[in-house]
Amino acid sequence: MSFVAEFNSLPLAALVKRSLGTDSAAVRETLTRDRLSLADFAQLISPAAGVALETLGQRSQQLTRQRFGKVIRLFAPLYLSNECINNCKYCGFSRDNPILRVTLTVDEVQREARALAAQGFRNILLVAGEHPKFVSNGYLAECVAALHAEIPSVSLEVGPMEADEYRPLVTAGADGLVVYQETYDRAIYDDLHTAGPKKNFDWRLETPERAYTACFRRIGIGALYGLADWRYEALCVAAHADYLLRDCWKASLTISLPRLRPCAGEFEPLTHMTDRELVQLVCAFRLMFPDVGLVLSTRESAKLRDGLFPLGITLISAGSHTEPGGYTGAGKENIHQTVRGRIVDVGASEWATPTNGNATNATGQFNIADERSADEVAKLIQSLGYEPVWKDWDAALTT
Ligand code: SF4
Repeated sequence: MSFVAEFNSLPLAALVKRSLGTDSAAVRETLTRDRLSLADFAQLISPAAGVALETLGQRSQQLTRQRFGKVIRLFAPLYLSNECINNCKYCGFSRDNPILRVTLTVDEVQREARALAAQGFRNILLVAGEHPKFVSNGYLAECVAALHAEIPSVSLEVGPMEADEYRPLVTAGADGLVVYQETYDRAIYDDLHTAGPKKNFDWRLETPERAYTACFRRIGIGALYGLADWRYEALCVAAHADYLLRDCWKASLTISLPRLRPCAGEFEPLTHMTDRELVQLVCAFRLMFPDVGLVLSTRESAKLRDGLFPLGITLISAGSHTEPGGYTGAGKENIHQTVRGRIVDVGASEWATPTNGNATNATGQFNIADERSADEVAKLIQSLGYEPVWKDWDAALTT
């Protein structure tokens, strides 16, 4: 049975209701348990548990140190292309947005990767919009193969594929696949994805299973907070993670907690999740899944990230650019503008990324909040008594 069948039978409305209605005595009782169920997780993300955030934070920190040690792993996103055939209302790369686009050549990708390696990164996430013409399977395999010799850990965040289409990417050296459901609310999902293959909710929901079939060793999931009620989304992510830990147990699992950021198209969040609620959710995921990696990106401010690192986060990005060519200016000559998916002469775009000397001005996916360099973030991690780890341990053990 795939997760879709299990998802369809989850009592989600009842669990959200239970979460909203729980009291501090029930939360205390939940905190005495060693193994937690989805109903227990609903207690941990409740308003009542929010009042006991300090206790939650202490437990989460303790558990994280026990399971992962005092280390924070670093990775960098490397954007290959911002072409996309999908219209996702909340994304800067959405097909109909009149933005500046480019797809890097394999040589340019290598230049970007070397610039990241020079900063210390050995764990790179290749990100691309979904556009079979520009971002074909063959192109992705070439990019992975070109990087594999120099970068020990290469993961992908690209348009979902069939297991057979993933296999050449694994063979080329990709070890991880990240796919966010964005929102687990079917009605909101349908409304936000107005055109393109991404409209198919179930196909996306089954992507981690296809990735596992294709032998990716690391799988990342998550919801984009700001689209549906955060407690509903968190319950769905927890149920999804629970399923993958049972059915795809040979892969290591990570959960990301991205919140919406400003981007081209100026989409306004439909729901709000406070900083305090994000902290609570990190702790709840840690207590529910002691061995799962928790990922935090530069979408969050430096101040909030610094506070969250010791509480349960195990993997972070730093010094990120969300536009192709952002680290070296690669691809500058091939930038073009699209209006409703059609290429037009390059004009001034209010969404052009400032060139800052060497970056391209292709449009980024979203504005980042933590603008510190990777080196600054690594030093901060050290000042907290943690070790910044640039190389992925699993890959190191198997290569
Ligand atoms: S979220 Fe992904 S699929 Fe949707 S427009 Fe952005 S890049 Fe394309």
